[in-house]
Amino acid sequence: MATRILVIEDEEKISSIVKGYLQKEGFIVTVASTGQEGLNRLAEGYDLVILDLMLPDMEGEEICRFIREDSNIPIIMLTAKSDEEDRVKGLGIGADDYVVKPFSPRELVARVKALLRRVSPRQKVYSFNNGDLVIDMEKMEVRKGGTPIELTNTEFKLLQCLADRPGQVFTRLQLINLILGYDFEGYDRTIDAHIKNLRHKIEDNPRSPSYIKTVYGVGYKFIGSRDEN
Ligand code: CA
Repeated sequence: MATRILVIEDEEKISSIVKGYLQKEGFIVTVASTGQEGLNRLAEGYDLVILDLMLPDMEGEEICRFIREDSNIPIIMLTAKSDEEDRVKGLGIGADDYVVKPFSPRELVARVKALLRRVSPRQKVYSFNNGDLVIDMEKMEVRKGGTPIELTNTEFKLLQCLADRPGQVFTRLQLINLILGYDFEGYDRTIDAHIKNLRHKIEDNPRSPSYIKTVYGVGYKFIGSRDEN
């Protein structure tokens, strides 16, 4: 899956340069020009956020806090002045890195790559909740409590998609698009049936899940906690 980056920046000149450079590196880039638009777009599923500190409608710090309420998506903050730099450094507002304007687009690209390497080493085996759930992404094998379990292809893709981004909320439509492809013409409730089956296989108590949580009125998110290593 290609890496998706959300750029929240009101200065079109900057966002278009940043977008151009990142696209050249193979990233899929979306630009939001206000804080609200950025927050709305986040639900579409991104791997990294580049966030301008000074936006017309909201402070970058506020946006950062909103994002951090339910996501640990990597955030690179763009600041315009050195006193803003101090704010970012001093307040610990949840950004993973920051770049001071004017910056070289190449440097920003390097920071993006470094941050992505740091936060998501391309692991092939994911282990959650102290080894209770182990997902081998390459072999497409899943073990629950040490015992291999059989998942359908759709169930595996669903689990892979959710577990790859713990904490991120996916809408039913997003999951259908990601898993079954854009051509699928059916009720988005189809996804509920797959989730139900998946829960019966991986949850101790499907009615009180420790892995796939329903976000009412929105969709689902993965809440298992990934083990170290
Ligand atoms: Ca700005």
